[in-house]
Amino acid sequence: MGRAFVYVILGGGVAAGYAALEFTRRGVSEGELCIISEEPVAPYERPALSKGFLLPESPARLPSFHTCVGENDEKLTPKWYKEHGIELVLGTRVKSVDVRRKTLLSSTGETISYKFLIIATGARALKLEEFGVEGSDAENVCYLRDLSDANRLATAIQSSANGNAVVIGGGYIGMECAASLVINKINVTMVFPEAHCMARLFTPKIASLYEDYYRAKGVEFIKGTVLTSFEFDSNKKVTAVNLKDGNHLPADVVVVGIGIRPNTSLFEGQLTIEKGGIKVNSKMQSSDSSVYAIGDVATFPVKLFGEMRRLEHVDSARKSARHAVSAIMEPEKTGEFDYLPFFYSRVFAFSWQFYGDPVGEVVHFGEFEEGKTFGAYWIKKGHLVGSFLEGGSQEEYETISKATRLKPAVTDVEELGRVGLEYAETV
Ligand code: FAD
Ligand code: NDP
Repeated sequence: MGRAFVYVILGGGVAAGYAALEFTRRGVSEGELCIISEEPVAPYERPALSKGFLLPESPARLPSFHTCVGENDEKLTPKWYKEHGIELVLGTRVKSVDVRRKTLLSSTGETISYKFLIIATGARALKLEEFGVEGSDAENVCYLRDLSDANRLATAIQSSANGNAVVIGGGYIGMECAASLVINKINVTMVFPEAHCMARLFTPKIASLYEDYYRAKGVEFIKGTVLTSFEFDSNKKVTAVNLKDGNHLPADVVVVGIGIRPNTSLFEGQLTIEKGGIKVNSKMQSSDSSVYAIGDVATFPVKLFGEMRRLEHVDSARKSARHAVSAIMEPEKTGEFDYLPFFYSRVFAFSWQFYGDPVGEVVHFGEFEEGKTFGAYWIKKGHLVGSFLEGGSQEEYETISKATRLKPAVTDVEELGRVGLEYAETV
């Protein structure tokens, strides 16, 4: 025997929290909605884990960053779910799903049935073992995906004051954690295979500005190589890392951010998978009409690019969640999900936003200096398709967002570089 719900959200991360809020806004009755999550806490704003959570002074701690901070007057604490008649099943992993029978089986042996299922299982951090390096279960090797990872990292930081950190990976986790480690007075060396940081988004010019700033803060960069092995003490703590290029780096703490894989395994063979994610249509509906997918795990049509994409950022998690709930509850009134990809990051005093697609020819603009406003436009087939801005005001970010969505034709690329941000205002 088990319980039955009209709506079940599988996963309790960012997308789940925003979906829950949308359900209550559209009117869900007591006992109709259940969220089942492996995490022991109610949905929270995951971005806080690499930023406020790691601060040496007054670090952010739950309940301060439960979803949906900034979106709702009230944070969605366990009390909020209770008051709204939403069943929150926490600390419970779903072991299997039978899409045909519309049931989930939990690790506690309970069967939960649904009329509509929303998959919000997000992603898992890639492990070094998947690249042939053993030993990443040592207590001072830290990945960062969930609260327990963040607690482990915060503890490792505390016991490494004035010590050495090696950060593996030059993506979002690498850059944000390196900044947090520096703020915690730890010496940082970053190691990654590419020629510059944030290789999938930053141009060499943009990357070099941030890297120079990191260097000025004492960070060393070792590029074009990867980790090959760890060295351990008798307590199985890592004491050093060895790199493919022969470098040997002492380490009190190692932070690994080498990308993620979406959690699709429960659905392989049951739903269509594309680009590593669960394929959904413009209503976030999967190949089974009772099953929707949102957030990092969903591969959805990005109308603006005419392509299927899987994105790994909070804005798409939040918006895809709202859209799926709208499509389930008011199918006739819900149009196509028309999403403009949006990414952002904050490190030290820097703060940037990016809209669109970083493909094609690049034109830089502005003053490439710390504390100044600068950016880049990407032009593909004569149209503006991507915009990056560092240090902008809210109004300026909105301006580049609006301009990028319109994909305006660009006739004079040089002129675009000269007028820079003002161009977006004229679109
Ligand atoms: P998640 O938030 O990962 O949630 C997935 C949930 O599903 C988890 O609760 C997980 O435990 C649960 N789950 C998975 N499998 C099962 C199962 N079998 N049974 C039960 N539960 C299960 N994006 C930005 O745009 N800006 C940022 O500044 C930013 N910072 C980030 C910082 C960090 C440290 C991390 C890790 C990510 C950051 N991101 C950021 C990315 C952003 O957090 C993700 O895109 C977002 O969390 C995706 O939401 P989601 O709900 O799809 O997945
Ligand atoms: P990213 O994909 O951003 O970066 C991974 C980095 O690790 C890349 O530079 C990648 O290189 C490199 N890499 C891959 N394999 C190896 C290896 N064997 N050794 C060393 N480096 C390697 O992933 P992250 O782990 O940084 O972030 C995880 C997730 O969290 C992402 O979904 C990200 O979007 C999200 N996140 C987002 C934030 C934001 O939006 N502000 C902040 C923090 C996290 P290559 O490109 O060659 O594969």
